[in-house]
Amino acid sequence: MAPRPMRYFPLFADLAGARVLIAGGGEPAAQKVRLLRKTAAHLTVVAETATAEIARLGQLGAISHIPRAFEARDVEGMRLVFSATGDAALDARVAAAAEAEGIPVNVVDGPDLSTFLVPAIVDRAPVTVAIGTEGAAPVLAREIRSRLEALLPANLGTLAGRARDLRRRIAGAIPDARARRRLWERLLQGPFRRAVLSGAEAEAGRILEAEMQGAAAPARGRVALVGCGPGDPELLTLKALQRLQEADVLIVDRLVNPQVLDYARRDAERIYVGKTPRGPATSQAEINRILVGEASAGKVVARLKGGDPLVFGRAAEEMAALQQAGIPVEVVPGVTAAHACAARVGLPMTLRERVRQFAVVTGATADADLSLDWRALIARGSAFAIYMGVGNAPLVRRSLLAAGAEPETPVVIVENGTRETERAVATTLHDLTECVAHLELTHPAVIFVGLDWASAGLEQPEAVLTWRRPAPARSQARGQAQAGVDGIARPDPKACP
Ligand code: SAH
Repeated sequence: MAPRPMRYFPLFADLAGARVLIAGGGEPAAQKVRLLRKTAAHLTVVAETATAEIARLGQLGAISHIPRAFEARDVEGMRLVFSATGDAALDARVAAAAEAEGIPVNVVDGPDLSTFLVPAIVDRAPVTVAIGTEGAAPVLAREIRSRLEALLPANLGTLAGRARDLRRRIAGAIPDARARRRLWERLLQGPFRRAVLSGAEAEAGRILEAEMQGAAAPARGRVALVGCGPGDPELLTLKALQRLQEADVLIVDRLVNPQVLDYARRDAERIYVGKTPRGPATSQAEINRILVGEASAGKVVARLKGGDPLVFGRAAEEMAALQQAGIPVEVVPGVTAAHACAARVGLPMTLRERVRQFAVVTGATADADLSLDWRALIARGSAFAIYMGVGNAPLVRRSLLAAGAEPETPVVIVENGTRETERAVATTLHDLTECVAHLELTHPAVIFVGLDWASAGLEQPEAVLTWRRPAPARSQARGQAQAGVDGIARPDPKACP
């Protein structure tokens, strides 16, 4: 899906010493005056009649109040113009006058006349957060604002102020841009931040000196193997988010959803090492070489992997190569595909008294043999998930039946779990091959064997298709759903064995 273009581009206007006009003298104008008095702008209100508040501020000299009707020349020399007259014709005149002078104008409740909108604001000056919905849902903007208000410490501005005072000194002391960014990350996230926010000035000073000394030492690279989950970015862990944002360089697997990369620093370098079927591939040896090379150059490396790095992720080879090179490596767990896919279709992977062991196996093989202990996998009380198995569905089916599995063993397949293209289907071991072929199920997909909803006392979710081989080849007596013309049976919870 192509991203929607932003109609309004957020900016921060410098109003220190600038002149700002507000046309109108009622409560909406007074609200704008209140908001703009947070800045150091010179405010002029032009209105024949004004609220007591505006009149009083005029008398005090805090603002200029011109007690007459708006005239086009009033906009001259203004940096911004606001119109809050409550009179559509007058608002239109104000907007036209401002536009004629090329001055940005905002009309209260008049987005069509406005050349800019005023966002909802969280004020921790010098930290300010502006939230806009392009006028689509102001209530949503307010809700987001109240969440951010709760999230950001009231004295966050103090911390930002300290940072501003330190910028020059730190830039001088630490010329290397990467080392400097890392120092800032430590100062603004770690003990220095806590000391400043709790008002412990002396302690903050001590921490600062120690951090600066540490930052001046030569940079040491490190690698985090980051589990990025099955696709939905909301399934990232908080730690994965941190590692994404700290990294100088991202080394990205093909299975990592591109949406996840939106959470990384925009200026982080990206190296794609994904192995695409029949496309360009990067060998594991080459990936190891890149990891060691980048970290040896002193960079903070995030190696992004689909799901969990330690589940069919070839993490061991990468960790061994890094250990040999003496590079620190950390593993950040992710939600593995089986867990995510089971959750999407509400399929329990263990069941009290019934499914006491659950295995994950790989269905990928270079030859005709998967070398799995099929008998153990289908033993009573067992169920399992096959990763990388859809391409080998016929071999999986043959091997399981040869090991004595019941043809009616329930099978659930989830393709592209948690992504927009997700599909889920329930079938049986007997029908597995044809189900995969007819629905053209492809990588990535998880095949669950031995799990179903009925034995857990649950209903099969409506979004899950049921696939059964066309009737003539099967015993009618079992009452399976008939396959449709395209071989896809309608979702039918009752058809599930
Ligand atoms: N480390 C990953 C697995 C990598 S092996 C993890 O923990 O999930 C690749 C296999 O993972 C795929 O062939 C498929 O079986 C499974 N997989 C990964 N993402 C998936 C997804 N979004 N939906 C279904 N299966 C997925």
